[in-house]
Amino acid sequence: MESKSKSRSKDEKGKVYLVGAGPGDLGLATLRAKECIEAADVIVYDHLANPEMLGWARADTEIIYAGKEPGKQSLGQAEINALLVGKAREGKEVVRLKGGDPFLFGRGAEEAQAIVDAGIEFEVVPGITSAIAGPAYAGIPVTHRAENSHVTFFTGHEDPAKEESAIDYAALAKLGGTQVMLMGVERLGSITREMLKLGVRADLPAALVRWATTGRQETLTGTLEDIAQRAVASGFEAPAVAVFGDVVALRESLNWYEKRPLSGKRIVVTRTRKQASALSNKLRALGAQVIELPTIRIEPPTDLREFAELVQDAHIYDWIVFTSANGVEAFFEIFFKLYDDARELGCARIAAIGPATAQRVKDFHFHVDLQPDEFIAEAVAKEFRKQGSIENVRILLVRAEKARDVLPRELSAAGAIVDEAFAYRTVPETRDITGARNQLAKEGADLITFTSSSTVENFLALGLPWPKGMQVASIGPITSKTARDQGLKIDIEARRHDIDGLVETIRRFFAGNSTRRPMD
Ligand code: SAH
Repeated sequence: MESKSKSRSKDEKGKVYLVGAGPGDLGLATLRAKECIEAADVIVYDHLANPEMLGWARADTEIIYAGKEPGKQSLGQAEINALLVGKAREGKEVVRLKGGDPFLFGRGAEEAQAIVDAGIEFEVVPGITSAIAGPAYAGIPVTHRAENSHVTFFTGHEDPAKEESAIDYAALAKLGGTQVMLMGVERLGSITREMLKLGVRADLPAALVRWATTGRQETLTGTLEDIAQRAVASGFEAPAVAVFGDVVALRESLNWYEKRPLSGKRIVVTRTRKQASALSNKLRALGAQVIELPTIRIEPPTDLREFAELVQDAHIYDWIVFTSANGVEAFFEIFFKLYDDARELGCARIAAIGPATAQRVKDFHFHVDLQPDEFIAEAVAKEFRKQGSIENVRILLVRAEKARDVLPRELSAAGAIVDEAFAYRTVPETRDITGARNQLAKEGADLITFTSSSTVENFLALGLPWPKGMQVASIGPITSKTARDQGLKIDIEARRHDIDGLVETIRRFFAGNSTRRPMD
């Protein structure tokens, strides 16, 4: 998609979208939120909005951090309002991305007011609030027919000891039901003391859920009487939601999120941003916290014209061999620009290395005639030889620039006439819009995944300090060899050399199963 800002005329009025980012889990963003981010010219985001969502933005989108974090310079509310208005006045589509739901605490209403006062159009995209999703991911439904018939959301931002507190704790105490508190974990002591003083029973179940719905989620349970002291004892810090009510007891049987196989594991994914999601989503589904740290990016080949000419002549070959999904995509993108009829491929047969490559071919509605059992280049040459002589057979090999030479060499040695079509090149990813590198340095990780030799080389080229105890998972022997040559120790090597195989081996590794051994 071309930049909309460039095509839009200067005097066209901008618009501000107040978008709820949801509580943290990427999957809990709404479709509308994703659409808005994809189309945004400017994104102003908060501390609690998952920065991975910024990966959905266009490459030229201006991204501004407006979060408030202790010890960091941050924009004041008036400055944020002025920023939103100012950017919209430049004719831009501005997304104001806020954690959870924009209208539940967090000052979304004030921002909306400022935008309207400035005469600027706005839209609200509600989000899933941490007040409901947080407890849910801890196995606590905020209502249960047998337990309560109302829920209260209140802010713990204010100190109840203060005279001017706007919260009527006496009313809260009398009301009962489920009470969900946002903000103010630090004031939990004085808040619970106040509630006890007002006659709420001491053994009322209570829970705190921090970094809810993310890979960092932690839950602490107790009673109204002891939860504050437990929080202090375990160093339980914000951001957290607190739940008071009998529904908390349901967690005992309903806790699901914290029991998944990779819960509590932080795993780094180094593939290109575009390709990362297949791996990331599978790891997340098993409970891992994923840091997407793309080290490479796919770019058109140096000589696009030469590639296009080879694509144009593809029908004169006996075989077209694809070695990666990227190659398939690059090939058909050009092919369908040149031709409007799939039959222009003529009688060329198609070979694909690896199931993901074969799947991409099938996505374009072409049959895969040859798919080696093993997903490495050597196997293709062997597979071809099995088919009999390939003397004088014409083969077009669609691949990345700077790929290994094994395949063309072996095919040529067997008598085939091989032309190489360089479909794309992988270049180091230079941007780090989600702050993943900083996050890795600060928080460390349990495991880093490498899905190709170039991810290994480019990750190491970044020169980041190696987090203590971070183990290494590789997709297959070639990637492992590259890593070993660079001095890394391989802790996990996928049994099947594809994404599913890698995920499965990681799952078993952490379950302490048979693969828990270096596969040297
Ligand atoms: N509009 C947001 C709330 C903003 S106020 C929403 O609907 O969720 C900020 C407070 O929200 C935090 O102090 C914390 O209490 C809560 N919060 C937001 N995201 C959270 C998360 N992932 N885990 C726990 N608490 C969260």
